This record gives sequence, structure tokens and C-alpha cells, in this order.
Amino acid sequence: MNTELDLDLLGELVSVPGLPGREQQIAERIATFLPSGWHVHSDVIGNLIASPADRANCKMLFLAHMDEVGLLVRRITPQGFLQVERLGGMGVRGLPGARLTLWTASGEALPAQVGVLPHHLDDGKSTDLSVLYLDIGATSLEEALAMGVRVGDGLTWDAPLKRLGKHFVSGKALDDRLGCFVLIHLARRLSESQMNTDVGLAFVVREEIMFNGGLPVLQRMQPQVVLGVDATLAFDTPDLERAQSEIHLGSGPALKWFDTVRGKAAFVPDWKLAQRIRELAQQHGVALQDEVVTGISTIVSPLPFALMGVQTAALSVPLRYHHSPIETAHLGDVEQLIDLLFLLCTDLSES
Ligand SMILES: [Zn+2]
Repeated sequence: MNTELDLDLLGELVSVPGLPGREQQIAERIATFLPSGWHVHSDVIGNLIASPADRANCKMLFLAHMDEVGLLVRRITPQGFLQVERLGGMGVRGLPGARLTLWTASGEALPAQVGVLPHHLDDGKSTDLSVLYLDIGATSLEEALAMGVRVGDGLTWDAPLKRLGKHFVSGKALDDRLGCFVLIHLARRLSESQMNTDVGLAFVVREEIMFNGGLPVLQRMQPQVVLGVDATLAFDTPDLERAQSEIHLGSGPALKWFDTVRGKAAFVPDWKLAQRIRELAQQHGVALQDEVVTGISTIVSPLPFALMGVQTAALSVPLRYHHSPIETAHLGDVEQLIDLLFLLCTDLSES
């Protein structure tokens, strides 16, 4: 089937800030990329829901999350440096020397950088968030305030999307703007095919700080089948090779059979639905990897227990360097995922 991927669109999706609880800007941007004629609405906490017809509910719901990990200003020092708190699982090891963007309350983007010891003086001790500080070029608290900076302002990586070699893209927030990108492409393909499908697409909030952002969407749309579209861990770099699983970039999206955070089983899919997805991929020659990974979870985790019970499964794009400024994905995996979701829409429409 081979979808022509709109990489300018992906670059734009990645560049717009969307910290947990502050997804309004990215939601507004996503809404502009959906096919004309689709019905788009948002709820009180900022979830964006799109469907081809103006129906109150839908049979199948696909979910991706709009938010990204970042930092919050906790304190401005008298010398004009910033101390910060993590918002979501921001990778601390990648912070010293990194460039970030600070988003002021008025929406202004200020360059910021994380201080780092000169190599000549490096004591080799591990970096702790409590000793890190951000430099925005202010020389005093007063100057920082005059620049519009306040406690509670958010920061995101300054890491625009780049092509890496022939097959890869790299940048911040591919988790889960790639999922949003996949759903936008799915909407466009459904619109072109004029398939009469009872589907809803949800772009949800606050996944990186809690997994429950999708619950109000379920209440509103009352779906029978829910599919999460997110990113997962890849184990194909020299430091992680086969550490946990064979999931790697370039062998297709991953079908989640189990995940867990902090030792608790967080998600298992509906057995029949997951089997059906695997069968569909096999029948149509779509590459698919089976995923059993610990240390990560997704927005679909609490959803099987919503309403009167919901059939739930999760598909993911494998990413290298999760929650860093260089999250890396294989474009072939993204294409295959769009193909598979389209097949699933066709299949569920017929059943
Ligand atoms: Zn994610």
C-alpha cells in the first residue's frame, strides 16, 4: 500500500510544544491537519477527538498522546539561573550541555541551555537533577523576570526533526507525535477511500504524567474496541543489544502482549483482538514484531476496565533513545503501522 509520508508535517508536529497539561497549541495544530469535512471537538481537559461523521459515539477508537516530556522552572536564583523539576520521565543523563526552549506564559520561546562542568574540571561524578542549573543568559533574578520568566514555566528539548541516513528520523517528542502523525495519515487515507467506517481518532493529554487521559474520551465516544498507538523501546544499539527483547528498528511496528512499570503488570491486550491483528498482518504481508517489554507503559493501560469493559490492544513504533532529544525511528515501521491500522479499520467495519 505504501503511504507517501509527509515529513514536513512530522517536522511541524515535533516542533510544537505540548507539555503535560499544556497541550492546547499542539491540539490546535493537529486539528488543522485533519481532512476537511471531519468532525473535530475537544473536551475540558484538552483531549482532541476526530471522526469522519458527526456521531455521538464510535465503534473503534484509536488513541495517540499529544504530550511530551519536559522540565518546569522550580526556582530562579538571585544570579538569574534556573533550577528545574522534571515533567514526565525526562532523561537526566542527556541534560548537561543540552539546548532547550523555555516557553513563557505569554507564549514566547526563549533559548535555554543546561550548564555543564568544563571538561578540564570534570570530577566524573554522576549528574543529579538537584545540582543541574539552566542558563538563559540572565544576570540576575530581576533580569530573568523582565525576560518574562516565571516559576512554573515549561521547557522542552531544542531538537528539531532531522533525517538520519536513508531510513531514519531523529528528534524530540517522536514519543508520541509519531503516533499523532500516523493517525493523521490514517484519517487522510480513510477520507480518500470514502470507506464507511465507524471510527474515532483521539489525541489525548497527560500520558507522560498519568495514564488516565483517555478515560473521558471513552465516556464520550462509548467505543467497543480501543487501539493505542504509541512508541516503545528498541533493543538494537550496542549498549542494549538483546538486553530484554528482539524489538528493533526496521522490522515493523510492535504488537504489545505485556508491559509493566515498577514491577506491576500494567497492560495485557484483549487476547482475541491481538490475535486478529497478528493474523491481519500475516495475511497482508505487513511486518509486525511481538513485544514483551518491561519498564514502559501506555495510555491504554487503564482502559480495558472503563465503561462496561472495552476490548483493547496496543501497537507501537520502536524508538531508540526514548525521552531524549534524539529519539530515533525507522520510516518503514511508520509506513507499515499506517497500513496495518487501515487494514484493521477495513476488517472491523466488515465484522
Ligand atoms: Zn508515549
